[in-house]
Amino acid sequence: MTPPIPIARVALDVPVPEPFDYVIAPQWGPRVGDWVVVPWGRARRVGLVLELVEGSSVAPERLRELESLLPDMPRPGPEWLALIAFAARYYHVGVGELALPSVPKLLRAVPSARTRGSPVVRARERFAATVQTPSADSVAPDRILTPEQTAALDSLRAVRGHAVHLLHGITGSGKTEVYFRWIQDILAADASAQTLILVPEIALTPELARRIRERFSDCPLAILHSDMADAERAAHWLAAAEGRARIVLGTRLAVLAPLPGLAAIVVDEEHDASFKQQEGARYSARDLAIALAAQRSLPVVLGSATPSLETWHAARRGRYRMASLHERAGGAALPQVRRIPLKGAALQHGLTEPAMAAVRETAARGEQTLIFLNRRGYAPVLSCAACGWLSRCDQCDAYRVMHRLSSQGGRAAPSAGPARYRLVCHHCASERPVPRICPQCGNVDLAGLGQGTQRLEEGLQSLFPDLRIGRLDRDVARRRGATQSLLDAAHAGEVDLLVGTQMLAKGHDFRRLTLVVVVDADAALFAADFRAPERLFATLMQVAGRAGRHHARSSVIIQTRFAEHPVYEALAAHDYERFAAQQLIEREQALLPPFVHQALLTAQAKSQDDATGFLARARTLLQTGGAQHGIDPELLARLTVCDPVPMPVAQVRGLSRAQMLIESPSRPALHAVITPWLAALREQRSSLRWQLVIDPLEI
Ligand code: ADP
Ligand code: ZN
Ligand code: ZN
Repeated sequence: MTPPIPIARVALDVPVPEPFDYVIAPQWGPRVGDWVVVPWGRARRVGLVLELVEGSSVAPERLRELESLLPDMPRPGPEWLALIAFAARYYHVGVGELALPSVPKLLRAVPSARTRGSPVVRARERFAATVQTPSADSVAPDRILTPEQTAALDSLRAVRGHAVHLLHGITGSGKTEVYFRWIQDILAADASAQTLILVPEIALTPELARRIRERFSDCPLAILHSDMADAERAAHWLAAAEGRARIVLGTRLAVLAPLPGLAAIVVDEEHDASFKQQEGARYSARDLAIALAAQRSLPVVLGSATPSLETWHAARRGRYRMASLHERAGGAALPQVRRIPLKGAALQHGLTEPAMAAVRETAARGEQTLIFLNRRGYAPVLSCAACGWLSRCDQCDAYRVMHRLSSQGGRAAPSAGPARYRLVCHHCASERPVPRICPQCGNVDLAGLGQGTQRLEEGLQSLFPDLRIGRLDRDVARRRGATQSLLDAAHAGEVDLLVGTQMLAKGHDFRRLTLVVVVDADAALFAADFRAPERLFATLMQVAGRAGRHHARSSVIIQTRFAEHPVYEALAAHDYERFAAQQLIEREQALLPPFVHQALLTAQAKSQDDATGFLARARTLLQTGGAQHGIDPELLARLTVCDPVPMPVAQVRGLSRAQMLIESPSRPALHAVITPWLAALREQRSSLRWQLVIDPLEI
């Protein structure tokens, strides 16, 4: 009889949920949580040891040997492995698909003969070199908290151990100040304590990082987001993972960092859809932060002026603790909201007369205006007036958007030479030159329909030639450093008129901004997605919240054709609570989240028939073949499986896309059915691409 072979079960970043077995050679004594190098086909890969067992069900001749341990990497503790395991189970993906991408590339690279020195050691030294020494002159501002801030802080401090707090505070009410005081206590109480602060956007990190460094000058700060140079990201991640960073500030991926000393979590702007990962494992960083807090028995604060309805509902029912800030801090008042009818109005470059007058008056007082238009590019579509041709993308169910090439953007510089344009699809990124004549009828009069931020910027320049204009949208942000230089200029008062998409709306604190103009947001009122009103309301509250954060008087102008719409009514009254209450009634009646839990199976194929056909077969497998795959019929009866339908954008990159919604009032029932069903679906080895999204945000 042969003695049992020692086996390491290793998670790899491949779309297979189960770990892979490798024989452990005597010179390696891996432990659970170690990062290892293993052979994979003809290549080698880095993986994570999940389990050590004796013997394998894999045929002995197919078993291969674990090659080595990845040198110097810290071994994450059992709490982190438990979080990853929970996330993998909840989102129905492999542990490796979550764990490996969460580690910076440099630190999970397969070592080769050319690797010089240890990337881990280098990363460690790099962070040590960047940590600021505490400076005597960065004193904490000795602010007196408002009574509401004090009450909120008391409420946070009142709980020991695990709690989910909702800090509902209007824009500019001083939520950040409350987070800071709370964190201060926690860090002071324990020299190894770490706190995690999650924000939805990369663009929000520099300003918050500055405020953190000012207040916590003796606490090393690690920043984690996807737009960092590899070496820097490795340095910061390692400092977080080794407990050297006391504060970790990051976007959604930071929730997956191992934080050995984690003691408290803040999720700022918790309602923001950017917390949901949009590709690969579709996790929600906000939801994982809550799970993480529960697992490690620690508190988490969710902060927002417009909480997601899921969060609001949980707080109202007492599952979360709630603290509210209804007033702005520091003597600032909320802006007055005016609705200006677009119907029958004479527009110049999209602006009504009252809006133009307000811009002029604001500039005359030396204050700033923000003009909000959530549509980037020059014009949403190019068209031929003679035959009706439109610049459709041949790969997608969408129009190619007209973009100006000599794009100013950022800090406005006068454009040189004639403008040049391209047609760009926002779904597949394909680009085409602008045709000189209509491809369909030969007509030479082609024109862009409607306006995007580039065209608006151009129009504003002609309307207000004396004003300094700065634009921010994703096109501008693509140029390295452009976002920061625009924000710096705006803070320094070198910009009179800010034009942009919601990139400008989130979180920024512009001292001199007292007017916000919403050019046209009506289209979002009639989107098919049931979350569209919630999203629009949150966006507009955010944008409006940029005005008058340091002034007693400020205003917001909303140009609209539907002034009486409940979204705008609630906005004018600054009444989130009324809006949320009314939305929740509608959701309950229509049996929508948070009153049901959803999963969305999506498929992409050559034709719409193939895509919907696959989903229909998946449904049959669930409903009639379920028993033989271990699906409990009683639980299945608690699920509603909708018909497969084309996705809202039915074709992207030449592939047809379809979706099928599965819902249940019971989350456990939903997951208990999905697990065996997905296993059966994977066994079918369909060549078609499909994925399952848990708690989808877009349907
Ligand atoms: P929020 O995060 O709720 O939008 P911030 O924390 O950014 O609000 O605060 C808005 C502004 O008010 C900031 O400039 C902040 O410095 C200031 N502020 C906050 N709390 C106070 C206070 N108690 N007294 C005076 N100013 C305050
Ligand atoms: Zn034509
Ligand atoms: Zn396209």
